[in-house]
Amino acid sequence: MRLAILGDVHANLEALEAVVQEGRRLGVDRWVQTGDVVGYGADPSACIRVLQDLGAVVCLGNHDAAVLGTLATDYFNPYARAAVEWTREQLTAEELDYLGQLPLVVEDPVFTLVHGSLHEPERFGYVASPVEAAESLERQTKQLCFVGHTHVPAVFGLPRGGEEEDRMEVLFEPEFTLPYSGYERCLVNVGSVGQPRDEDPRAAFLIVDTGDQTVALHRTTYEVERAQRKILANGLPKVLADRLALGV
Ligand code: ZN
Repeated sequence: MRLAILGDVHANLEALEAVVQEGRRLGVDRWVQTGDVVGYGADPSACIRVLQDLGAVVCLGNHDAAVLGTLATDYFNPYARAAVEWTREQLTAEELDYLGQLPLVVEDPVFTLVHGSLHEPERFGYVASPVEAAESLERQTKQLCFVGHTHVPAVFGLPRGGEEEDRMEVLFEPEFTLPYSGYERCLVNVGSVGQPRDEDPRAAFLIVDTGDQTVALHRTTYEVERAQRKILANGLPKVLADRLALGV
């Protein structure tokens, strides 16, 4: 079975459609999304519809929760807060209901899914370093757990055998293919479809092949200028358009 794990779509329809097209070409059977479907980009409704049509398994992100009004936006920067408020105005009651039923954590037979960290998922902490990864891995019961939130792809793996802390293997790469059978537990940050921040502006997504037992991070180009034009046309902050071209 081939799964596509998409992270942080952030209402970027151009990026999402490019990733779906590439995933179909790669023979994806199941679609998964690690939260933050909306926020920042100009197409929240269309992106929700694409994920619904794919039958994607999705968990709740902090921007989704902020749009719902269940998470305070005090610690959001002004641009993110402006996008949250604009997004709330765009969505229908049905679309808000869709976001409202997203769980904080998904326990699938094959994987666990959470936006930030399994350590207090409702606080949306960032897994950006081995220290935070260790806290999350402690609570991970499945071999594979997928997260997003940082918009930077990474793998934190615990190989089989030995003591926990000393044996964590860490990988930060814009693209990779990694066999996971040798890991007791593997925490994969799948990067971001709609607003990558690893200085590579191409949309990121993960392909999991349960036959080969590999996780592979792919990148695909998309129509960045079109996504930027829509952000500006809707009166969203210019910085949200500019950053897409830089991957920051
Ligand atoms: Zn995000």
